[in-house]
Amino acid sequence: MHGLVIKNTGSWYTVKTDDGKIIDSKIKGNFRLKGIRTTNPVAVGDYVELITNQEGTAFISAIDDRRNYIIRKSPNLSKQSQIIAANLDLAMLIVTVNYPTTSTTFIDRFLAVAEAYRVPVVLVFNKNDLLSEEERHYQEMMMTLYDTIGYQCVAVSAETGEGIDTLLPLLQSKVTLLSGNSGVGKSTLINRLIPGAKQRTAEISDAHNTGMHTTTFSEMLEVPSGGYVIDTPGVKGFGTFDVEKEELTSYFKEIFHFSKDCRFSNCTHTHEPGCAVLKAVEDHYIAASRYQSYLSMLEDKDENKYREAF
Ligand code: GDP
Ligand code: ZN
Repeated sequence: MHGLVIKNTGSWYTVKTDDGKIIDSKIKGNFRLKGIRTTNPVAVGDYVELITNQEGTAFISAIDDRRNYIIRKSPNLSKQSQIIAANLDLAMLIVTVNYPTTSTTFIDRFLAVAEAYRVPVVLVFNKNDLLSEEERHYQEMMMTLYDTIGYQCVAVSAETGEGIDTLLPLLQSKVTLLSGNSGVGKSTLINRLIPGAKQRTAEISDAHNTGMHTTTFSEMLEVPSGGYVIDTPGVKGFGTFDVEKEELTSYFKEIFHFSKDCRFSNCTHTHEPGCAVLKAVEDHYIAASRYQSYLSMLEDKDENKYREAF
C-alpha cells in the first residue's frame, strides 16, 4: 500500500493511504536511509510504501524519492539531524512588526535557507489590526522591500480575519510549511484557516502521548478550501544550515544579481576592490538590513570554521 505521512509523533507515523484510509505506522526495524543520519528517517510529507498487519497498523518499508526536505540539527550538537518535513511546495513565514518584533535578520536567514532548499516563500505580516500609524508605515516599507526582491507579501490579521481570503488561494493544491517565531500568531492563523484544528491537535496528541515524553512532532493539516499546511510546533525556522561561503551570495537574490559585476568571481563582498555589491549597498540598491543579514551569515561561517564538520 502507498500513502502520505501526515503526522509524526516520534515512533509512530500517521499515514493517509492513496485510497484515503488513515493507518498508524512504524518504521521497519532495520530501515535506514542511505547517506543521511537523522533521528527520524521518515518525515511528514513523505510518500511511503506500507506493509499492513493484522492489528490494523503497518510497517513503512520504503520512501519515495523526495523533491526536497528540510532538516535541522539536533540541539545537542550531535551529528544527527532531524528532518522536519519533506516535499514542500511553499513556506509561509509569519512575521509581526510588533508584539513580538520579528527581526529582519531572522527573516533574511529564513529566506536564504529557503533559497538553498529551493522552497518558495510568502511573507505573511500578521496582527495587522494592532499597528499604530508608525508601525503600519514600517510594515509597508518592509513589504515593499521584500516584494521588490521577489517575495510575495500579504498583510493579515488572524484575529479579525482580514487578508485571509488572499492567503487561501495561495495554499490551494500545495503543501505549505508555516513558520515563525513563537507568539506571531501561527496557532491563531491555523485555526482561522482550518476551524477547530488546534483543538483537535491537542486532543489527538493527548490520546497518543499518554505517559510519553512530549516530543516535537510535525503535522500536516488539510485546509477545507484546498491544500495542506504543515505545523511544526516549537520549530521557528529552518535552524542552521551549512552553506559554502561562495554559495551564500546566491541565496540573497538581489545580492546575487549585483555580484555578477564584481571584479573577482570569488568575491565575498566584504572588502574586495571592484565589488559591485558594496557599491550597490552604498547606492541603496541593496538594503542595508539585507547586507547586514548577509554579513551575519558569513560570520557564522567563520565562527563554525573550527567546529566539527556536520
Ligand atoms: P503562536 O505562538 O505563533 O502559535 O501564536 P498564537 O497563535 O498563540 O498567538 C499569540 C497571541 O497573539 C495570542 O494571544 C493571540 O490571540 C494573538 N494574536 C494572534 N494573531 C493575532 C492578530 O492578528 N491580531 C491580534 N490582535 N492578536 C493576535
Ligand atoms: Zn563583491
